[in-house]
Amino acid sequence: MPEKATPEPEGTATADELHVLHAGGENSLKSLFDPWDPACGDIAYIPYYFYAVRHRRGLVLIDCGAHPDLALDPVRRLGEQAQFSDIVMDVGDDVVGCLRRAGLDPADVTDIVITHLHFDHCGGLELLPHARVHVQQAEWDFAADPPVYQQLAYIPADWAQVQRWMFHQGEHDLFGDGAITLFPTPGHTPGHQSVLVRLAGRTALCVGDAAYHPMKMAERKLPAYLWSPDALIASWEQIEHLRDRHDAELLFSHYPGPDELAQSPAPFTAASHRSPMSPAAANQKGHTS
Ligand SMILES: [Zn+2]
Repeated sequence: MPEKATPEPEGTATADELHVLHAGGENSLKSLFDPWDPACGDIAYIPYYFYAVRHRRGLVLIDCGAHPDLALDPVRRLGEQAQFSDIVMDVGDDVVGCLRRAGLDPADVTDIVITHLHFDHCGGLELLPHARVHVQQAEWDFAADPPVYQQLAYIPADWAQVQRWMFHQGEHDLFGDGAITLFPTPGHTPGHQSVLVRLAGRTALCVGDAAYHPMKMAERKLPAYLWSPDALIASWEQIEHLRDRHDAELLFSHYPGPDELAQSPAPFTAASHRSPMSPAAANQKGHTS
């Protein structure tokens, strides 16, 4: 068991439903998941997912995809980062389009929990200025002056319009009823957080980029892109502890592929706009997420 405190929500309330929303993606080298993988030079489609949770007190997003401008001109929005992320995003793959496809009204969004402030997770903030935005203080501090090895993944324009910041230092029970609990999972970035969501008869653990791929996490194979390997391993231990304690299903930001998601035996409510570009047709590009 990890030494860190783990969320043990006191309440027994549940959220009503959880939607998996597919907001485009990118074609990237497999080395992102594991630089020592023999197939690390192959290109794979990496989807961008975010999640919408309906609770009686509000509609909560966990991340909100990339900025809509990436569908038309990623270079203008991302600058140098566009050389490393071969964006595969259509008009309508932004947060508003994804919510509408799922039958959800963007005006109903009350809260947005941001796992971390990389561009593929928070680019939709500008489109939902009325919502409260929840981040860990450590993520905010890091994003204000990121080190050179993560600088390109942070696009300050993504959060420049936010009016209602909610800064957290550690675990936070969103509605005070045990249904939705945020907790720090540093490693990918210093202020990365994950979210435990209790549903009736089912619990989801949204891990964002704390882990890219379940097998790589199980085998303790570190990804190419990270802030602290030691912190990431400790977060993996905590995630596994929580998964086992709550019999939770892990939900990732970039896994599985959309087809695999649709074929899973008991998916959460999923909405996908399009099939991804064939990896074979993609240019060889790197990735930062
Ligand atoms: Zn990411």
